Amino acid sequence: MINLNPKRRSKGETVQISISRLRAYQLCPQRYYFRYILQAEDEFISSNLFFGSAIHHAIAAFHQSQNTIGSNGMYREFLKYWQAVIEDCNQKQKSIRYKANPEELRDKAYGLCVEYTAAFKDIVASSTDDVELMFECPLFCPESGFGSFEHTLVGKIDLVANGCVYEFKTASRTSSQKDADSSIQLTAYALAYRYLYDQPPDHLFIVNLVKTKKPKIVKLETHRVQRDFGNLIDMATSIARAIENDIFYRNRETQWGCANCEHEKKCLGIRDKNANHKEVLT
Ligand code: SF4
Repeated sequence: MINLNPKRRSKGETVQISISRLRAYQLCPQRYYFRYILQAEDEFISSNLFFGSAIHHAIAAFHQSQNTIGSNGMYREFLKYWQAVIEDCNQKQKSIRYKANPEELRDKAYGLCVEYTAAFKDIVASSTDDVELMFECPLFCPESGFGSFEHTLVGKIDLVANGCVYEFKTASRTSSQKDADSSIQLTAYALAYRYLYDQPPDHLFIVNLVKTKKPKIVKLETHRVQRDFGNLIDMATSIARAIENDIFYRNRETQWGCANCEHEKKCLGIRDKNANHKEVLT
């Protein structure tokens, strides 16, 4: 049920932008509107999405226990999250779109937990606060002076350990070095780290949890320079201003595909209404 009287931003309120919101707006501003402005209930949930969230939850639990729960404990945390999502969907009568057999997905999750605990057994966060570390920083680059304090970037860094920053990503294929070098999520983490610790991170990693037949963990190192911060700040500021000005158009050409959109029925409803309206006018 869509709330037709959503709580709106009051004028002059600073827009806080996160990387998920930026990505959502880039894919389709109308979808952004449904999700973040109307806060409409999703029409379905994709197993890819909650598989990734469940793995993130399990990784956080592993590091919050200071790496003591092992692969079985990590997998238990995965199942806890996985089951909670399924129960929530049943209660709300929301459908789940499985991209693979659920049994197979759970087996892959177990394989990823085994691989992850082996690869990260010696990487311990200095405090539990460094796991899913929350941040809020201005869209401003302290070195170049580019940007402003008009909007802020918010989010949480997946893991900080020994001066290194990690982003975790579940996928069906391994990211390329180019993907790592252009990840805006990692650019945001590197910018936030500078604000939090007053220095750049020693190393910046993207960690792929690849859901292949034999699950694997692939770690890629990358770097960020001033130009990367400038590009992110420029894009995020433009999107924040578009949101402030209520610019929410439909991007039906999105590469990602409207058929994968959790708000497609609502969106088509609006389009059909507009089409009928046009007919009456002509
Ligand atoms: S169905 Fe397509 S155009 Fe409509 S909100 Fe979703 S992604 Fe955007």
